[in-house]
Amino acid sequence: MNAMLDEMEKNVPLTLKKAKQTEYSISGTPSEWPTLSKRLTSNFGYRTDPFTGRASFHAGIDIGAKEGDPVYAAAAGEIITVAQDNSHGKYIVIQHPEGLQSWYLHLSKISVSEGDFIKKGQTIGKVGNTGRSTGSHLHFEIVKNGKTIDPLPYLQ
Ligand SMILES: [Zn+2]
Repeated sequence: MNAMLDEMEKNVPLTLKKAKQTEYSISGTPSEWPTLSKRLTSNFGYRTDPFTGRASFHAGIDIGAKEGDPVYAAAAGEIITVAQDNSHGKYIVIQHPEGLQSWYLHLSKISVSEGDFIKKGQTIGKVGNTGRSTGSHLHFEIVKNGKTIDPLPYLQ
């Protein structure tokens, strides 16, 4: 009996670790809609580029939303990029388990820092119109093992 209890006790940390890993892979899978607005203005795939009028590949979805509306993390993870450039505007990249990342572009404000661990649904910034953008909206992307994929099947 004692030997059995000893054995069980030895396995407790391992079981806890496994439970935590399972919990993280569930909460770390993107599923939370990242804005209050559910107004899709552009889908993933080929479309007419609003700037050039030519067919181009759109690597994410656009959600029309009010400037200053909160942007929510689609899943738990680590903030790996907080940056700004002429194309993305102010943007955030979150690393999730199993090679998944979520990208949030054209923000007006960012309320997290690189290295932060965030929860699913946590507010990470505000909707904006920065970078290559024709109006206030969130461009949302999911990258799996370095390749952009359609985020809609992931979202509720
Ligand atoms: Zn877009």
